[in-house]
Amino acid sequence: MTKAILIAFLLCKSFTSCAQSTSIWKNKKCAVALTYDDAINIHLDKVIPALDSAGLKGTFYLIGSSDAFTKRIPEWRKAAANGHELGNHTLFHPCYGKRPGREWVRPDYDLNIYTLQRMTDEVKMNNALLEATDGKKKRTLACPCGDTKIGDSSYLYGVKDNFVAIRDATPDAYDVNGFGGVNIQWVTVINNSGDQLIAAVKKAMESNALLVFVFHGVGGDHAINVSAQAHRELLQFLKKNESQVWVAPFIEIAENIKRK
Ligand SMILES: [Zn+2]
Repeated sequence: MTKAILIAFLLCKSFTSCAQSTSIWKNKKCAVALTYDDAINIHLDKVIPALDSAGLKGTFYLIGSSDAFTKRIPEWRKAAANGHELGNHTLFHPCYGKRPGREWVRPDYDLNIYTLQRMTDEVKMNNALLEATDGKKKRTLACPCGDTKIGDSSYLYGVKDNFVAIRDATPDAYDVNGFGGVNIQWVTVINNSGDQLIAAVKKAMESNALLVFVFHGVGGDHAINVSAQAHRELLQFLKKNESQVWVAPFIEIAENIKRK
């Protein structure tokens, strides 16, 4: 070990604490996208007020046909005007049925019976609905259940030109996004503690990564849930570390990756 390396090592509490800030993350150590799927009432009632009080912006992947969207469009419009992203989660949330745990998939919206044309139409119509809501033409997509294949073909290739990026970890989403060698870390939040959520952020800081949180229910309202307390602890940590962590809607982070 040379003298210079030895000094550098001693200056660091550990190798990982020497993570560099990076221009791709606005000169911070990492980026965090807080994303919330399925257009549920608690997002408007609890999550957006919690984000607003912390001065943080999230991404809400909306199902165009859901009651929490159709009955509360002015509130979603207001959230978008306040800096939150309204993302596309399709009109009817089609997923593969006939899989363990997928009993809730209605036969009419089983992705197994869709054609590529039907899926493409559905995705594009949800974009039109969202544009009518927030006036924006740029959008990101999150695929319901992460399911993307119609037969052997991914529908992402037919809709990719309508999106800045796809918020998913599937190989076709990575292919379509073309983010290169960016380190992307994922947490699908299911009853995680606040400490576990914070540990994920610390790991992203150490490895200069993009960390994407995928939330559904927060303090209830969904089978996939996390406590409001754990969510609050995460937001408090992010707020406290905002000089080192870039928290932004997924679309802003994706645009920055593509720009760089
Ligand atoms: Zn969903």
